Amino acid sequence: MDRREAVVRAMARERLITNEELPEDQAATVALRPRSFDDYIGQQEVVRPLRIALEAARQRGEPLEHVLLHGPPGLGKTTLAHIIRHYMGVEVIATSGPALKRPGDLMGLLTNLKEGDVFFIDEIHRLDPAVEEYLYPAMEDFIVDFVVDKGANARMLNFKLRRFTLVGATTMAGLLTAPLRDRFGLVYRMNYYTPDELRAVILRSAKLLRIEIGEDAAAEIARRSRGTPRIANRLLRRVRDYAQVEAGGVITREVADAALRLEGIDNAGLDNLDRALLRTIIDVYQGGPVGIEALAATLNESQSTLVEVVEPYLLQIGFLARTPGGRKATLAAYQHLHVPTSGQAGQPNLGL
Ligand code: ADP
Repeated sequence: MDRREAVVRAMARERLITNEELPEDQAATVALRPRSFDDYIGQQEVVRPLRIALEAARQRGEPLEHVLLHGPPGLGKTTLAHIIRHYMGVEVIATSGPALKRPGDLMGLLTNLKEGDVFFIDEIHRLDPAVEEYLYPAMEDFIVDFVVDKGANARMLNFKLRRFTLVGATTMAGLLTAPLRDRFGLVYRMNYYTPDELRAVILRSAKLLRIEIGEDAAAEIARRSRGTPRIANRLLRRVRDYAQVEAGGVITREVADAALRLEGIDNAGLDNLDRALLRTIIDVYQGGPVGIEALAATLNESQSTLVEVVEPYLLQIGFLARTPGGRKATLAAYQHLHVPTSGQAGQPNLGL
C-alpha cells in the first residue's frame, strides 16, 4: 500500500459511517453473519442466479464455477462466500490480494485445498502481477507450475490441484486485469440496500444480540445507514449503548434519533465531514462549480480523501454533482441543509 492510499484508508477508518470494517465491528461481523440464503436479506439479482448455479453444481456433484463479486465494502461479499461454502458443505480458505505477497504464499494455500473448497480472495484487484500469473492455470486447469532448480537445470513441474471454487471480491472491478476477469464463470455486482432491506437487517441483528427495538426505531437507523449492512449493524450497537446509559435500555425512534445526532449523523446518514464539504461549496463557492483543489485547500483535507472517502456517497444520493467546471451542490443538498436557494447565482429560485 502506498502512502497516499494509507492516508486515505486511515481517514476512512476515523468515520463512524465508514463502510470499511473497523476493529469494533469484528466480533459482531462473525456473530451476525448470515449462514444461509434464507437469512441473507436483499440482493435478489445476485442471490437468485447464484442459487440456481449452486443447486445445478450440487446436483451434478461438481464444484461451483469461480465467482467474482464486486461492489462497495460492507454489502455482504464475504458473507456470500460463507453461504456458498455452507451450501456446498465444504471449507472456506480466506485470504486477500495484499496478503499474497509472493507466488509461494499462493502455492501454499492452493495445494492445501480439498475437493470443492471455497478459496476466498478479498481485494483481488490488489494481487501482485507475479502472483496473479500463477492463479491463471490454477483457475483454468487446476494446476500450478513450479520451477525447480536453477540455471541450466531449471525445470517446470506441474502440480495437480483438487478442483476448488475461487470466490473473488473487489471494490474496484475496473482495476481487474482482463485475463483474471475472464476466468470467472459467474460475475455479480452487489448493490446498495434499500431502507426497508436495512430495517430487516437491523431487526435480525437486534434479535441475535437480544436488543429490544421497534420497527420504527429500526427504520430510523436504517435510513442513516448509507445503504450498507455493515454500517447498519454498527449504528445499531451505538444506539444500544446510548439507550442503555441514557434511556433505561429502551430503544424508541426518538432515542435512536438522539443517539445518532449525538454522533453527528443526520437523518440522511451524513456526518460532519459530508456536511462540511457541502457547506463549503454552498457558502464559500456559491454552490459551485468549484475545482477539487480549491475545495481540498478550503477544507484542509487531501484531495484523495475527498474524492475517495467523502464524495462517493454524496454523488450516489444526488447531493453533489460533478461537472466539467468542477463540483456543484444540488438542490437536494440545499434542501437537506435547509439553505434557501433564492437569489443565488446559478441556482433556481425554489421559493423557499
Ligand atoms: P463485504 O465482504 O462486502 O465487505 P461482509 O460480508 O463482511 O461485507 O458484510 C458485513 C456485515 O454485514 C456482515 O457481518 C453481516 O452481518 C452483514 N450483512 C451483509 N450482508 C447482509 C445481508 N444480505 N443480510 C444480513 N446481513 C448482512
